[in-house]
Amino acid sequence: MTPMLARTLAGLAAARATLPAPVTLVPTMGALHHGHRTLLRTAHEHSGHTGSLVVSVFVNALQFGSGEDLDRYPRTLERDVAICAEEGVAVVFAPDATQMYPGGAQQITVNPGPVGRLLEGASRPGFFDGVLTVVLKLFNLVRPDVAVFGQKDAQQLFLVRQMVADLNLPVDVVAAPTARDLDGLATSSRNGYLSQAGRVSALALSRALRAGAEAADGGPAAVLAAARPILAEAAVADPPLVADYVNLADPRTFAEVGAGYSGEALLLVAAKVGDTRLIDNMPLTLGGGI
Ligand code: AMP
Repeated sequence: MTPMLARTLAGLAAARATLPAPVTLVPTMGALHHGHRTLLRTAHEHSGHTGSLVVSVFVNALQFGSGEDLDRYPRTLERDVAICAEEGVAVVFAPDATQMYPGGAQQITVNPGPVGRLLEGASRPGFFDGVLTVVLKLFNLVRPDVAVFGQKDAQQLFLVRQMVADLNLPVDVVAAPTARDLDGLATSSRNGYLSQAGRVSALALSRALRAGAEAADGGPAAVLAAARPILAEAAVADPPLVADYVNLADPRTFAEVGAGYSGEALLLVAAKVGDTRLIDNMPLTLGGGI
């Protein structure tokens, strides 16, 4: 099935009117890869045989800081539509910035609150304001019953859920698991920036997460003690991996967990290899330590 391609708000409205419910939205910035396919398959599971899938493809300038990769972010719409055809998507909504932000800079934006200023929000000021603003706009334009987001961007998923709860949005948010390449690297549209050697350096992220998860019984200190040396080793590789944060968070609040914490946690890492910023995370169950 070839999806309907909507490039304008009017085109989307016309396509939306034909869609059988429930409608599931998968928001993306395009350059679709295996991780996005995981989202689409999760979406199908939730929409059942009768529902329909909408994929948005929009490189949202509002969530990029100055000096970030807005201009070089990969744009592969033709290929994205072909992938959506393979995955049974009904509508691809691929507006340009003049459709989404007709007045240029947006006057009213979503404030992501305190969690939006931690971790990714601390390193990328304004990032989550941009993400939540475009997600809210997409929800208003597409009016989905369900929206699927990746666990790969765990803080984003948390904040979208928080926005839906706090602003009473009538959308059911569903999480899809993180897709990885065979070598362990979480798939990302940005992985294409990496040289072969850069990719080897980047693998320290998933290795650090696995080492941390294996040490989970020993509690927070043991997890961090297992993960950090792997990143330290990659810091002297060529090209070096420059770690930004390694953090253990309570998935219910995203607060950093203290030394005595036990139970469900998220181990979150972020780093740069050259100009390429990469993030990854792993859920784990912390023991009380020894
Ligand atoms: P992006 O196009 O990178 O903005 O991502 C769009 C959606 O795909 C977000 O909900 C991401 O969390 C999700 N996503 C990106 N990469 C992965 C991955 N490797 N596994 C699962 N979901 C992913």
